[in-house]
Amino acid sequence: MIGGVVSGWGRILAGFQPNLSIEITRECPLRCPGCYAYGDDHLGGDVVLRELADLKGQALIDGVLDVVRRHKPIHLSIVGGEPLVRFRELETLLPQLTGMGVHTQVVTSAVRPIPESWARMKRLQVCVSIDGLQPEHDARRAPATYDRILKHIKGQQITVHCTVTRQQTRPGYLREFAAFWSAQQDVKRLWFSLYTPQMGEESAERLLPEDRARVVAEITALHRDFPKLRDMGPALLQGYLNPPSAPGECIFAQTTACVSADLKTPITPCQFGGKPDCRQCGCMASAGLAAIGRHNVALGLKAGQIYWMSQRVGKQMRRLRANGRGRSTAAAVTSGAE
Ligand code: SF4
Ligand code: SF4
Repeated sequence: MIGGVVSGWGRILAGFQPNLSIEITRECPLRCPGCYAYGDDHLGGDVVLRELADLKGQALIDGVLDVVRRHKPIHLSIVGGEPLVRFRELETLLPQLTGMGVHTQVVTSAVRPIPESWARMKRLQVCVSIDGLQPEHDARRAPATYDRILKHIKGQQITVHCTVTRQQTRPGYLREFAAFWSAQQDVKRLWFSLYTPQMGEESAERLLPEDRARVVAEITALHRDFPKLRDMGPALLQGYLNPPSAPGECIFAQTTACVSADLKTPITPCQFGGKPDCRQCGCMASAGLAAIGRHNVALGLKAGQIYWMSQRVGKQMRRLRANGRGRSTAAAVTSGAE
């Protein structure tokens, strides 16, 4: 953990973003309401994800490895579309990526079986999106229904990731959800995010301010009662009540590069793309990094203050590198921190 933080800090000082997110395919057999990846403005409005020329086979394998070598991330998130549409390519890629020391997360609906070998792979996390109890989930996420998920995660140690929408805010709902998934032996941990709307969005998914406060209070209690919710501590949950007001204040957005399915098109300002409403952000990674940022480090300094100072150094290093003068210094900073 400490090694990861120090190494990530070294990357920031050297002008790299320590996190990378890749939309590995434009395809997905699901049509989830509120899916941001297929939103009209996800890629800025000129093109939508389903229109991008994505890659397959060896071209995809080589392309992903090339992006990873250029970005040098510590943490890589493979999202979609549905990554399991490209499970054959992933069977080749994942051992190589994790073998390079990259902590890799695959975010999937588990619409098809998760390959057995993934269960034993070091530095790999398989994160399955499950949005609510069976009636609501199956209505939203068929064909990735509860029955299929339970079959397809057999023998794995998955992370269940639930994005809470307004449909899931009745009292006691999340407790029932946590009890069901905590009891599954193939589940290692449970995460809750909150639905993040786009600016001006009025949808059935968007939480009202009173929902948000009640949901956070409920997850706080669940954190005490369910050990598999160990990552959802009070410091992180505080982030859901006080999100950054803009992408420029979001440590997660600033430390994460996001690339879409042609492996070229950037997704900005964060993985949601478009114009996300930061004041209603429910991204767990953003809340988690904000919690680290509030942590007192030494001499009255908070980790976040050190991060923003380091980011300024990193920007300077990037400019120098672009001018061809900073390469050796940047390498020294990065390797010195590892
Ligand atoms: S599984 Fe993911 S990418 Fe596919 S429609 Fe649902 S939210 Fe969108
Ligand atoms: S992760 Fe949340 S706070 Fe950060 S830029 Fe995206 S919407 Fe804004």
